[in-house]
Amino acid sequence: MEVKTVKHLLTKYKTMRKVIFLLIILSLTTLSFGQPRHITVKLHSVIGYGQNEEFAKKAATALEQVLNSDEFRTRMLAMTYLRTNGLTNQQLYDKIMTAHEEQGDGGQDGVVDLRVRTLRIDGNESKWKDNCEIGSHSGTIGIDGNGDGVTAICPQRLTLWVSENNVAELSGHYAHEYMHILGFGHSKFLGTQAWREKTFVYKIGNLVSELVEKQMKANK
Ligand SMILES: [Zn+2]
Repeated sequence: MEVKTVKHLLTKYKTMRKVIFLLIILSLTTLSFGQPRHITVKLHSVIGYGQNEEFAKKAATALEQVLNSDEFRTRMLAMTYLRTNGLTNQQLYDKIMTAHEEQGDGGQDGVVDLRVRTLRIDGNESKWKDNCEIGSHSGTIGIDGNGDGVTAICPQRLTLWVSENNVAELSGHYAHEYMHILGFGHSKFLGTQAWREKTFVYKIGNLVSELVEKQMKANK
């Protein structure tokens, strides 16, 4: 009788231990899923930037900080966009934070894989020369590489931003081009600039610029 009770208690204790163990595993899993995700920004290649490679790195670091911020998440989720490829705001946010490139060589998920260069306006891309001029009618800042995942900036624009120490604009430019790499566009027949400014690609680029600028001011 006595032995039986002890045995019974022991079995009970073992079961309880199993249950507690499972509960701990379960809560740990929930915790890790509930935690905000963290992404990194990786500059795989910087071509044609000359002395300004450090500036590109600064912009990439600032972009990383902003993408991981609560403010970016809150602001981004509260906006409305055109050209969302049918995704909800939460899905758009998740798509950014998953960082799975749809164009170009890509890289690891959870890593914003960037490849940047300058436009060869004095070489085989001279057709962009006039559009690239600061104050030109087209106002071209750069081009998104037509699906090859390499972001090209007008050298005049890069020089201007460096002279202004305008890291925020370059971060925003990278964010804009990265949204293209994630598969989003901003074109339609006879689309005006005012219309383009309402698209996901433009709004994310502008939001990143704004938040980087804010962050820079706060760090001064
Ligand atoms: Zn664009």
